[in-house]
Amino acid sequence: MTYEAATFKGPSKPYLEIKDVPTPKPGGPGGEILVKVASTGICHSDIHLFKGDFGPVMPGFIPGHEISGWVEDFGPDVKNPWGGLRKGDPVIVSWIVPDGICKYCASGKENYCPAAAGRMPGLVGLNGGHAEYLTVPEIAVIAPLERGVDVYYASPIACAYGTAYHALREAGVGPGTSLVIIGVGGVGLSAVQLASAMGAYPIIAVDIRDYALDKARELGATHVINSSKEDPISRIKDILPDGADVVHEARPEPDLKLSMEVVSRLAR
Ligand SMILES: [Zn+2]
Ligand SMILES: [Zn+2]
Repeated sequence: MTYEAATFKGPSKPYLEIKDVPTPKPGGPGGEILVKVASTGICHSDIHLFKGDFGPVMPGFIPGHEISGWVEDFGPDVKNPWGGLRKGDPVIVSWIVPDGICKYCASGKENYCPAAAGRMPGLVGLNGGHAEYLTVPEIAVIAPLERGVDVYYASPIACAYGTAYHALREAGVGPGTSLVIIGVGGVGLSAVQLASAMGAYPIIAVDIRDYALDKARELGATHVINSSKEDPISRIKDILPDGADVVHEARPEPDLKLSMEVVSRLAR
């Protein structure tokens, strides 16, 4: 059996080509699950991947690390420890694939797990979700999705929302936290929406694109600043004379310059 996948062509444009590839069998060591892909996000990390910023990529590699879909099949070694996962369940796939047993995993910091560095679906070592199917280690499957979450819209949880949520949580964002978010692309807009749900106020979004700022306002930003048209430092100081409790920089090439100007002395 074969299926269609967007495969990496090589480090020159166009980067991807659609190919028929053999459907993988979930038989790898430690237990693998075959996932039928519902949707897969395109992330700025894909650009880094194509440019070789994460190391050389072999032609034929399948990118895509923001993945949602359904459980299609279980490999022979799958433990399914709570027994709750069934074929057809909607799931998301984590691109952090930890071993689940080391001291980092035990302390809830799976992103530091040494095993995770060498296997990231769609980024390093494992084919990703720009395809109809993929196999992933069992531990990468996060499931089942809450009722009411549309599986087709759930894939950004696996990267953009997860990244933003982790950053806001680590910074202690909660009710009344004053927050500046610099750059409202995928991660920045996710941060706006999550910060709004967490009760942060004010939420000041800074970008150079009016359409991105319009979206930020729609998702919960209380103030928006187009830094190509007005001075973001004086605008932010007007709103927050002592600076912001937290500044979240989500630009593709962060330099922290604006952040350092507008964060309070108790910077986070
Ligand atoms: Zn990503
Ligand atoms: Zn670990």
